Amino acid sequence: MRGTSEVTRTVVVRSERLPRRTFRTFVELEGMYRNMVEQLVLHAVNNGITKFTRLKAERYREVRSLYSQLPSHYVYTACQDAAERAHSFLKLKRMGKARKPYPEVRGVNIWLDDQLWRAEGLTSISIATHRGRVRVSIELNRHFLRYVNRGWRLASEAKVKLDRRERRLIFYITFRKEVSEYRPKGYVTVDVNEDAEAVLIDGIVYLLETGLSRVTLGYYYRRKRVQEKYDKAYGPGSRPERRVFRRLSSNERALKKDIRWKLAALIAREAARRQAAIVLERLGKEPAKGMIERIKDPQLRHRVFQAAFKGMQRAIEEKAREHGVPVIYVDPRNTSRTCPIHGAEIIYGKDRHGACSRGGETWHRDVVACYNLLLRALGGDGGAAPSRVRALTPVDGGPVPLGPTAAHEPTPIARGAWARWKSLGATSDHKLMRVSA
Ligand SMILES: [Zn+2]
Repeated sequence: MRGTSEVTRTVVVRSERLPRRTFRTFVELEGMYRNMVEQLVLHAVNNGITKFTRLKAERYREVRSLYSQLPSHYVYTACQDAAERAHSFLKLKRMGKARKPYPEVRGVNIWLDDQLWRAEGLTSISIATHRGRVRVSIELNRHFLRYVNRGWRLASEAKVKLDRRERRLIFYITFRKEVSEYRPKGYVTVDVNEDAEAVLIDGIVYLLETGLSRVTLGYYYRRKRVQEKYDKAYGPGSRPERRVFRRLSSNERALKKDIRWKLAALIAREAARRQAAIVLERLGKEPAKGMIERIKDPQLRHRVFQAAFKGMQRAIEEKAREHGVPVIYVDPRNTSRTCPIHGAEIIYGKDRHGACSRGGETWHRDVVACYNLLLRALGGDGGAAPSRVRALTPVDGGPVPLGPTAAHEPTPIARGAWARWKSLGATSDHKLMRVSA
């Protein structure tokens, strides 16, 4: 399983505002490119073609002669673009989900290959057009520089879109990096919850608050209010209403993405620093905990579930790949029900707190889950005592490192705090109680 994988990241870079005449060149280019793609998609769909090579073999010569003023590589990239559109359209059609006989070519990003674009230093990009090569200055951008400085390679393919209102080009530039997974020396376990992530690192369970379900709910109710107001004013499904909806959705997506991405990066960095593997629950977990149970609307419940679990896991997987951190999946069943020390059932009362039915010690649900994930990762879930001891001893040498009270409390950290952190270690000495203390 261990090996090398390629990680890719797309960065958005904007050009400076272009002079009218320069911009017109790109408008013309876009028009021709769009026509090519439309024709090629039509041919591909009519003939059931989903492969670039076949589409190119059948259509290159003719399309090339129709657009002989364009650099020839645009015919290649248009074939790639069209083959991909045909592929996803034919898939939809097979599933009976295509609403039209042909795919509509609406938004166009012009696909570029290494012959068609070139980065010139860090400040400009040159593009081949029907009027020769055109060089445009780009706005320096933190993301772009970060990838350049960290040894990522610039991929040869890129896409460019026209921003007509601003008269700018928007580039989608891809960076690649080869990353090899290390052999893990330990484990960082992550229990994903609705509004927080419990993370077990070096014997401390951190409860990193995300508030993701609150974000989802907040936007859900805002949308409802907007709907009531606009339905009354304009009737249902009006244009202004849809516009507000679109804006709300895009804000919601951006906020969630930012939260997940930052948290995933923090966890992956911590794991990488310790050369540890990240342990996650295998997906398919029933959203039967906490607030999700109380939500009656199935659609909303689904959304909360998605927000809390799937997206977060995916972000962690992505960030782990970037840092070469191995990810291990374990069975999620009953992770918070069994005492990690005694293997007995924990009886829960209020506030996610419970008591071990054998030892009587109290536990916080998320701490239990984190330790049980660790046990499962170690392969000690059969209830055999040796593996429990093995899992828990390294913390400070004692056979049962978890003391009677303080040990079982996670350390909650608000979103506003962790979002600014570069690492968790910096604060663990003075502020946080060690689980093993
Ligand atoms: Zn116990």
